[in-house]
Amino acid sequence: MTTLPEVGLVRSDELPEVLAAVDYDHAPYAGGTELVPAMGLGLRRPAAIVDLKRVEALKRIDVDAEAGAVTIGAAVTHRRLSDHPAARAHLPTLAAAASRVGNARVRSTGTVGGNLCFAEPRSDLGCVLLALGATAEVRSGLGVRTLGIDELIVGAFETSLEPDEILTTVTLPFERPGMSYWKLQSHERPTLGVALVVTEDRWEITVGAATERPTRIALAAGDTAGLDAFVDGLELSDDMTGPPDYKRSVLRTHLERTLGAAR
Ligand SMILES: Cc1cc2nc3c(=O)[nH]c(=O)nc-3n(C[C@H](O)[C@H](O)[C@H](O)COP(=O)(O)OP(=O)(O)OC[C@H]3O[C@@H](n4cnc5c(N)ncnc54)[C@H](O)[C@@H]3O)c2cc1C
Repeated sequence: MTTLPEVGLVRSDELPEVLAAVDYDHAPYAGGTELVPAMGLGLRRPAAIVDLKRVEALKRIDVDAEAGAVTIGAAVTHRRLSDHPAARAHLPTLAAAASRVGNARVRSTGTVGGNLCFAEPRSDLGCVLLALGATAEVRSGLGVRTLGIDELIVGAFETSLEPDEILTTVTLPFERPGMSYWKLQSHERPTLGVALVVTEDRWEITVGAATERPTRIALAAGDTAGLDAFVDGLELSDDMTGPPDYKRSVLRTHLERTLGAAR
């Protein structure tokens, strides 16, 4: 049995107090589904954890109908996202992906922010959020930055966050017609995820889970040579979910079928 080391706990309802507390030794903590096991294994050893779940601003889902955008707080759980009427209405592919994350325990405690900031490659949300054109708001006590998902997640288990920064929200334009997300999953996390936005003249393809971080390309519809080059050039992981050749073959078949049908 894993024993957790002794650790302090910082709790506040106020975002400025939370921001003042976070640093290299004081790790932000939301659902704990990744952080707690990592601490149990000795991979993370913060002196204290800083609870984000009491800050109301981090738990909101807001719709700006005029701008056609939804803003999701970093401490929103997968379950709240998938059940939220605004998410279901304006971001149906994201809501459906959130409803299929992990298991019931992970969905009811794990959060959007924890998923992105842990940057585990075998994830659904980063892929779908990149495909949707989400931007991430990142804050420290000193200021605020806005990043694309590809600027936030920079590698496997690696983000561009400074130790004193937290992700506060992600903002997304309403989903466009022609979007879909499909995943291959035989273990508890996805093996391969593919988000598509297909229109008459454009194919936007985002691949996740099998890559170090979600990877996106936009092609003219019908550009099969470009599609082949993209699939051939992807660096796919070699892990317990299968070798790269297997993942490439599944990806190619899925894209040929889906885009062939759309053409
Ligand atoms: C069994 C299992 C199955 C899973 N299956 C899937 C799946 O199918 N698809 C999928 O996409 N994901 C899956 N996941 C991942 C899951 O989505 C994440 O574990 C969860 O969202 C993490 O959120 P959390 O709030 O628990 O993060 P925590 O564990 O609280 O934090 C994770 C990390 O992020 C940091 N952090 C948290 N919030 C912030 C913030 N706002 N700003 C800065 N840093 C922050 C913490 O310091 C920590 O380093 C699975 C996880 C498990 C355990």
